[in-house]
Amino acid sequence: MESLFGDHDFLDKNSGNNFADIILPVPIPRMFTYRIPSALKSAIQIGLRVIVQFGKKKVLTGIIGKVHNKPPQAYDAKPILDILDSEPSVNPLQIRFWVWMADYYFCHIGEVMFAALPSGLRLSSESKIQVNPNFDPETSKYPLDIREEKILEALENQAELSYEDCEKILGIKTIHPILKSLVAKEAILIFEKVQDKYSPKVETRIRLVPEIAKDKNALQAVFEAVQGKPKQESILLKFLRDIPVFQRPELNEKGLDKASLLEEGDSESSLKTLIKNGVFESFKQIVNRIEEVEAGRKAYTLSSSQQAAFDEIKEHFESKQTVLLHGVTGSGKTEIYIQLIQEVIDSGSQVLLLLPEIALTTQIVGRLKQVFGSRMGVYHSKYSDNERVEVWNGVLSGRFPFVVGVRSSIFLPFDSLGLVIIDEEHEPSYKQFDPAPRFHARDAAIMLAYFHQAKTLLGSATPSFESYSNASQGKYGYISLDHRFGDATLPEYHLANLSADRKKNLLKLDSTRLLREKVQQALDQQQQVLIFQNRRGYSPYIQCEDCGWTGQCVQCDVSLTYHQFAEELRCHYCGYKEKIPQTCPACGSSQLSLEGMGTERIEESLSLLFPEARMGRMDLDTTRNKHGYQRILDEFAAGQIDILVGTQMITKGLDFGNVSVVGIWDGDRILNFPDFRSGERAFQQITQVAGRAGRREVKGQVIIQSRKPENEVFENIIRGDYQEYFRQEMMDRKKYYYPPYVKLIKITTRHTDFKTAEKAAHALHHQMAKIPVKKIVLGPEKGVIARIKNQYQLESLIKLEKSGATQSVFKENLTRIIEELQAVPDFRSVRWVVDVDPS
Ligand code: ADP
Ligand code: ZN
Ligand code: ZN
Repeated sequence: MESLFGDHDFLDKNSGNNFADIILPVPIPRMFTYRIPSALKSAIQIGLRVIVQFGKKKVLTGIIGKVHNKPPQAYDAKPILDILDSEPSVNPLQIRFWVWMADYYFCHIGEVMFAALPSGLRLSSESKIQVNPNFDPETSKYPLDIREEKILEALENQAELSYEDCEKILGIKTIHPILKSLVAKEAILIFEKVQDKYSPKVETRIRLVPEIAKDKNALQAVFEAVQGKPKQESILLKFLRDIPVFQRPELNEKGLDKASLLEEGDSESSLKTLIKNGVFESFKQIVNRIEEVEAGRKAYTLSSSQQAAFDEIKEHFESKQTVLLHGVTGSGKTEIYIQLIQEVIDSGSQVLLLLPEIALTTQIVGRLKQVFGSRMGVYHSKYSDNERVEVWNGVLSGRFPFVVGVRSSIFLPFDSLGLVIIDEEHEPSYKQFDPAPRFHARDAAIMLAYFHQAKTLLGSATPSFESYSNASQGKYGYISLDHRFGDATLPEYHLANLSADRKKNLLKLDSTRLLREKVQQALDQQQQVLIFQNRRGYSPYIQCEDCGWTGQCVQCDVSLTYHQFAEELRCHYCGYKEKIPQTCPACGSSQLSLEGMGTERIEESLSLLFPEARMGRMDLDTTRNKHGYQRILDEFAAGQIDILVGTQMITKGLDFGNVSVVGIWDGDRILNFPDFRSGERAFQQITQVAGRAGRREVKGQVIIQSRKPENEVFENIIRGDYQEYFRQEMMDRKKYYYPPYVKLIKITTRHTDFKTAEKAAHALHHQMAKIPVKKIVLGPEKGVIARIKNQYQLESLIKLEKSGATQSVFKENLTRIIEELQAVPDFRSVRWVVDVDPS
C-alpha cells in the first residue's frame, strides 16, 4: 500500500519541489539538477534566471527548465545560490520547445538557448570574482602573497569585483595569473555577471511650459519678447505649426522630438535660450525603435476561388493540425493569409507568419503593414540586437499579436499562438546550416504550433516533397489553387538549345538567338526582363589554357571566384582573397581565361548585346549593406532598370506588373546540383523564377537555356505537371532509400589533420554500424568540399527507418559513442557535427 505521506507535496503546497533542472550556457548535453534551498522555494518558477555554482570554480547564470522531486543519481545536487528575476524571462511553452529542439536536432539545450535569446537578453558575459564562501584565512593551507591579500581585502568592502577593478587595485595589467592562483587556493570564485545589454532608445522632446500653453496672452508676450531675434522666432513658429497648442493641448503634452524641431537647420543654441528663458521645457522619453505604421487599407475582398480555398482551409482545420495550400504563383495566397490572420488575432490569439529571408520579401511585408499596421511586428535577419529585443518585448506585452519573421522568429516568447503560417514552405533557406541548433524552421514551427495547440498553414506554388507526401497520405489537409488572380495567365515556356546554337554559330556571348529575340521584343515594348543565374561573381574561376592551373583557396579545397569589380579572386566559403595574377603562377603563361558565367559577367555580356538597355544586378555582392536590396527593388519598380540579372534573390516573392520575359541562363546547372533533392529544387527554382513573369496584363515568357533541352524534368516543369513529376521522383526516392521514405542524419567529422580525421570517422562508422536499429550507414566520404578553413571534413550519412523509437534508440547510442570517442586521446580535438534532416 502506498504511504499516505509518500508524496510530500500535499504537506506544503508552496514548497513541494526540492529540485530544479537548470539550462546552462555551457556545452553539456542536458540540464543540470540543483537543489532548491527552502528560502527560495516559494519564489521558484520555470523560466526564472538563477545563479548556480558550476564545477568547482565557476558561478553561472542559468534558466530554470523544470522543477521536480527527483534527486540526481550520479551526483550530489548543489544548491541554487540566488534568483535574478521576479518575472520569468521565458515561458514554459518555450522551454518545452527548446527541450524538444535539443533532443530532435541532437544538440545541447544551452545551444538552443543561445540561439533563442537575442543577445540583449542573453545570459552571462562578464566575469567577476567573489570570495569563496568556504574560504577561511585562519585555517587555509595556502598562504597568500601580498597582492592576493590586497584583492581579498578589497572583497571585504565590495561583494564582487570585475577584472578591471582588480587591475586598478594592484596597478598592473596582467591580473589573470593572480586570480588563477586565488582560485587554486580556494579563496575566490569566478562567475559571470548578468548584463542587461538592451538599451532603450531615448528621445529628447520639447514642449511649451504649461503656463504659456494655457494662456494666449502669455504666448503673445513671448512673441513680443523674441521680436528682433529671428532665430528664436523661427523655432517658435515651427513648433506652433506642428503643434496647435490651443486646439490640441494634448499634443503639446506629448511634445515634439527635438531632432525634428531642429531639422530644418534651426540653431540649437537658440532653442537652449528659449528653454533657459522659461518658454520651452525639455524632457526625455523612451521611444520605440520600430516605426509605428497605421493600417492604411482594408483587406481585399477575396475572389470566389480564394473564398472557396479560405473556407476549405478552415474546414480542414476542424480535423487536422496542418494544411498545405498549393497555389500557383500569383494565385493570391497572401490575401488568403491576410483574412486568416485577421480572424485569429480578432479572436485574441497570436499569429506567426514565417518568410524565407525577409530581406528578400520586403514587398510582402509592405502589403501586410498596410493592413495590420502597428499590431504587426517584423523580425528581420538584418535587425540590430536592440531592434530584436523590441520585437521580443512587443510580443511579451501584447503590442504585437502578429509577427512576420525569418526562421529565428520561432523563438519569440509567444504564449497563445492560434495560427502559424509558413509561406514558401519548400524554401531550403528555412534550414539552419550552422551553427547548432541545425533546425528546419518549417518542421520546428509545426512542432511549436502543436505545443500551442495552434493550426499550421503551409503555402507554396511548388511544395516540398515532404509536405506533399504528408498531404497525399491525408496527414495534412490539402487545397489547390490552380490559376492566377484576375486576368493574369501563367507564363509560356520556351526551351533554347545552347548546343544547337553553338553549332550553327548563333551563340553570342553565351546567349541563344531565342533569348536575344525575346529580350529585344520586351525592350521594344518597354517591358522589363529578369535573367536568373544561380552563381554570383564575374566567372567562377580563372584557368591557365596552357597548363590547366586554376586559382585555389589556400584554406579550402575550392576554386577561387573571379570578381571583376574588386579585381580579386575570392573564396566564397571562407572569404580568403587575393589579387588576380597577370601570368599563370604555375607555368608563367599569360593565357589565363575565364571559365563559366556568374551574374557579374552575364550583366556585362548583356550590356554589350543590348547597349541601350539599363542594367541592374541583384546578388550577395550588390545587396551587402542594409539598404542595397531595397534600393535595387525600388529602381526596378520605378522602371529605372530594364534588365535585372540576379541569383535566387530574384526568384522569391517579387510582384512586378511589367516583367514580361524571364530568362534562365543555365538550366543545366540547376539540374546538375549534386544532391538527391536536385530535381525537386530545379522544379521549384524554375517555377518560382518563371512565376515572376506576366503577373498582370502582360503575357509572361520564360526562356530556359540548356545544352540538353530534351530532359524530362524540363518537360514536366513546362507542363506545370507537379503531380507527375512528384510521382516519378518518389519512385527513385523509394528505390534508393531517400526521404521522405527514410530519416537522414549526416555526421561530419572534422580535424586539421587528414589522417586523424579519417581514423576518427572510421571509428565512428564502426561503432554506429553496431547500433541495433534498422538503418544504412554510408561513408565516411570526403565532404563535397574536402577542406574548409583548414579543417578536413569527412561525412557519414545514416538512413534510418522512419519510426520515432528507432530514432531515439539511435540518438541515445550516438551520444554514448561520441562521448567514448572523444575520450580517446588521439581524438580529443576532433569535432563531430550532427545534422538531422540535412538539406
Ligand atoms: P501569391 O502570394 O499566391 O503569389 P499574391 O497574393 O501576391 O499571390 O497575389 C498576386 C497579385 O494579385 C497581387 O498583386 C495581389 O495584390 C493581387 N490580388 C490577389 N488577390 C486579390 C484580391 N482578392 N483582390 C485584389 N487583388 C488581389
Ligand atoms: Zn599555366
Ligand atoms: Zn576558403
